[in-house]
This record gives sequence, structure tokens and C-alpha cells, in this order.
Amino acid sequence: MEIKVLGTVSPYCKGVKNCSGFLVTEGKEKVLLDCGNGSTCQMCMPEDLENLTIVISHLHKDHYGDLLSIAYASYVYHKLGCLDKKVTVYLPKPGFIKEEEGKTPNTKKTKEESESEIMDYNFLTHLGKEQYLKFKTYDDSSKIQVGEMQLTFSKNPHPINTYATKIITEKESIVYTSDTGFEKNTIETFARGVNLLICESTFIRGQQKKEDFHLYAYEAGKIAKKANAKQLVLTHFWPELDKSLYVEEAKEEFSNTIVAQEGQYLKIKR
Ligand SMILES: [Zn+2]
Ligand SMILES: [Zn+2]
Repeated sequence: MEIKVLGTVSPYCKGVKNCSGFLVTEGKEKVLLDCGNGSTCQMCMPEDLENLTIVISHLHKDHYGDLLSIAYASYVYHKLGCLDKKVTVYLPKPGFIKEEEGKTPNTKKTKEESESEIMDYNFLTHLGKEQYLKFKTYDDSSKIQVGEMQLTFSKNPHPINTYATKIITEKESIVYTSDTGFEKNTIETFARGVNLLICESTFIRGQQKKEDFHLYAYEAGKIAKKANAKQLVLTHFWPELDKSLYVEEAKEEFSNTIVAQEGQYLKIKR
């Protein structure tokens, strides 16, 4: 697998830093994990639209903002005869969550959060005719095969339906966590022994988590250690903070840690 970093910050872009996006290529097939604001700046068009499957981890705007760019680009390139196949977009099944005891981490959505998620879902799936996309939904019971890549999902503690994605090929495995709280996270089992763990680390010590919906860098390190991952790649930073602060903190727990940088290709250690 080849993994290109498209975006690493939240909740807005700054300079060359874009919101979340990781483009995974295996053979002719591509999987784009999240499509945050600005992330398409790092894509090669129209080539990257060919055989493209997009998986949106959750319907927070820092993770899907650039779907509008993809929608219009796919329409334009299709009209020009450069794109034959629709871009497939997987969105999490929206809706009010019923607590399933013992099965999923407890995602406590308020009524407003549920309504907002449904409105965003309806907005994205009703973009009008100027797009060349095919929408599908998924949840943590889904198994999606994209060429040689097998995708599975695990639900995170976060205010709306949010999934970590695991991609496995014959030789390699990666997990992209997306947004997750620390207590009740299931990443450490889901990512057991992976070659590469791309993990959110929104906070550093000294910053206040109001609620446990994101990780401190040292918590990302703890998860990588417990999961026995081969390598940890940190992402989902505050645009104003120096990335080196995150890596120093995570290395207290897990030494084989790097930070994701826009435009970088991640090497998979076996
Ligand atoms: Zn989020
Ligand atoms: Zn986010």
C-alpha cells in the first residue's frame, strides 16, 4: 500500500496544513480516508478520481468539507470525458443511536447532534446534478472489498457515529482511527499488531479536554503500545500548534512515533 498524507489539522486549514485526509493506493484502486477541508489540494487530478472510493469516518465538517470539491471535479472531468466511473462515497449510517449494552462504546449523542448528523447526511446525498458520485452507507458490521484491500470498521466514543477503519492486504495492515475519546475506545483491540496506526492526537498536556471525545498525544502513544502496533503516525492537530510538541509527548509511551505531514508518503514497516 502507498499512503499519501493529504491533511492533518482540525478544525480549519492553515497555510499548507489541511483538514484530515489520507489517500491509500493499492494497485489500480484508491481509498481516500476522510476528505477534510483543503485535502484535495494534495491530490493529482483527474488521475486520483479514477477508481476512487472515499470513506468518511463521521459527519463532522473537518472530515468531509472537501467532498464538495470532489463532487464538482468529478462532474467536470466526467463531462470532459476523463472520468468513466463514478466516485464511490461511503458515509456512516446516520440516525439516532440506541445504546447497545456491551457491544459498542457509549456514544452519547444529544438530540441536536443526531439532528445535525441527519441534516449533513441529507445535504451531501442531495447535491444536485453537478456531481458524479455514488453514495453508500456503512457501519461497524460492514466489510468492504476494494480491489486487494479489505476494509473493516470499529465504532469510536465521539458525539456522533464515528468509525475507525482498518485496511488489510495480503502483506500489510493499517488502521486510521479518526476522532475518538480515550475511555471506552476499542482501538487497541481493533488495531492489534497493525503495521501502521494513524491515530488522532488532538490535545497535548496542559490543554483542557472538556469531554472525552479526543485523545491527548500521550494517550495515542498508550493505545499504540497496548495494540502492539509497529509504528504510530500522529494526526488531527491544532493548526496553531507546533507538531513537534505532539511527537515528544507520544514518545514517552511509544518510541516509534512520527507526525503526519501534508504531501508526505508514509512508509509501512513490516
Ligand atoms: Zn469529530
Ligand atoms: Zn475531527
